[in-house]
Amino acid sequence: MIFEDFHIHSSFSDGKNTAEEIVLSAIDRGMKKIGISDHSYTEFDKSYCIKTPCACEYIAEIGRLKEKYRNKIEIFCGVERDFYSDCPTDGFDYSIGSVHYIKQGGEYIPVDESAEILKRASEKYFNEDIYSLIEAYFETVSQVIEKTDADIIGHFDLISKFNENNALFCEDGERYLTLAKRAADRLLKYSKPFEINTGAVSRGYRSEAYPCAALIDYIVKNGGKLVLSSDSHSRESVMFEFDKYYSLYKNYIINFSPD
Ligand SMILES: [Zn+2]
Ligand SMILES: [Zn+2]
Repeated sequence: MIFEDFHIHSSFSDGKNTAEEIVLSAIDRGMKKIGISDHSYTEFDKSYCIKTPCACEYIAEIGRLKEKYRNKIEIFCGVERDFYSDCPTDGFDYSIGSVHYIKQGGEYIPVDESAEILKRASEKYFNEDIYSLIEAYFETVSQVIEKTDADIIGHFDLISKFNENNALFCEDGERYLTLAKRAADRLLKYSKPFEINTGAVSRGYRSEAYPCAALIDYIVKNGGKLVLSSDSHSRESVMFEFDKYYSLYKNYIINFSPD
């Protein structure tokens, strides 16, 4: 079993608990390793991210916790770097590369805010064709490692967050899967692990983790590796459903170790 988690948000970005509360809860649960990975600063949307480009306070606080609890748990200071964040990741122990926006006509369209925003954007910019919007999303995703130099590929198919029961598009259809697989092909050459991300399940948006099963199968058949991530925004959901996904994909899941 995997008993560690490297995708966790604290109140330094859009998480509910302080980093210390998360660490204490992880110690209570007997975890030996944990990574906090708050959202990198994005100039155009400050609503959800670390408040300053340098992330100095965040790095200092995680450093303080590393020392304070060093005999109980190993703590890593990570960052979830958005594709459009210009902040370097040198000061962090590791980074997760994630696409949260499509940039179109000078506008940053969040893909994980609401189904309504996606529908409106497909009307405004993509001739009401949701697949053209999806194509723009995966085109961006395909460059996420090149752009962010991250260690982990975050929620590869975040665009499906509001697509439970194929509400917006046909997730198991050829048209969608072709676009997603093309992006996967481009990313596979970097040999970075893809997340199995249970964040949308713990928050009630989806019944299955990202990526969908068809895409996980494609990734692993083509030599990709996986890491389990909870994308927690509260301490209760750390390692959410890791047992379920570990038993399904254990041959392909790696113990992530920041170097
Ligand atoms: Zn994210
Ligand atoms: Zn996240």
